[in-house]
Amino acid sequence: MTERAFSTELNRSISAKEASELSRKDELNDSKAFKCVDKNCGIPLTCTNWKQTGKRYYFTPSSKNDLHIVDCTEVSESESAKQAEKEAQGAKSTIQKNGLIKMTKSLNKAVTNIGATNDSTDTSSPNKTSSRANTSGKIGRESRNIYSVASFVDLFKDNNLDNNTQIVSIKSKKGNEELSLNELFVPATNKRFDWGKIRIFYGKAFLSNTTRGKDMVEIRFYNSILPKIYSNISELKKRAATSNITEFLDKNVKATVYFRGKLIDSGRKLYPYNDTYYKDLLFR
Ligand SMILES: [Zn+2]
Repeated sequence: MTERAFSTELNRSISAKEASELSRKDELNDSKAFKCVDKNCGIPLTCTNWKQTGKRYYFTPSSKNDLHIVDCTEVSESESAKQAEKEAQGAKSTIQKNGLIKMTKSLNKAVTNIGATNDSTDTSSPNKTSSRANTSGKIGRESRNIYSVASFVDLFKDNNLDNNTQIVSIKSKKGNEELSLNELFVPATNKRFDWGKIRIFYGKAFLSNTTRGKDMVEIRFYNSILPKIYSNISELKKRAATSNITEFLDKNVKATVYFRGKLIDSGRKLYPYNDTYYKDLLFR
């Protein structure tokens, strides 16, 4: 849920409380005529307590399968955690049906859809959560998109899942790779690493602003040969998965850092899975 939304009726951003007030005065007519204020996100939103009073006023995604984009700046920390949990819940039900979790890029303005699809059935209706046999009697393998690093971490830490089963699918130019959660998550303290493969590298790390005056954090994994990662401090602060950066930045406290990306340049550089580093970082 978010506090503010862009009203398409008023053509401006508005608080949920004000929207509810205007609905009671009949100055706003449609509870669904809202979208997320983050221009890169913009998912359809619905106002709560429409034409009535209530305790709390907020906007929720209009469709249960729609999520704010991974790096949406409007999402609070608690909602971000809830989104990740919702993603992970859906993923678990797909895994229980021997389904596949598709790692998916969070593109600006792309619709984030976490509904299950069935590979052998009509993919033009991606919201269908069916794993029924199709007309030929062949049972398709259910699959589901997962976007955020936090959701993968939820799955990785779930004791009820077998981390050695190959349930994650990553698409690349070289084709599809299927791997287990234990293969996806790579400890930063390893002595050797595969190059050019999308993985989630994780471990204790120091965060420092080494270039004074510049808005840049240097992330150095502790006891690790992995190259340092650099990202924009103000962008990280804006986003729920990394807004806790201030607890660690230039302090003698190690963060647990998860970074999704690949090693390039003969292992000299870590490159993000999405188009920016801050979409693929998580601090815990
Ligand atoms: Zn959003």
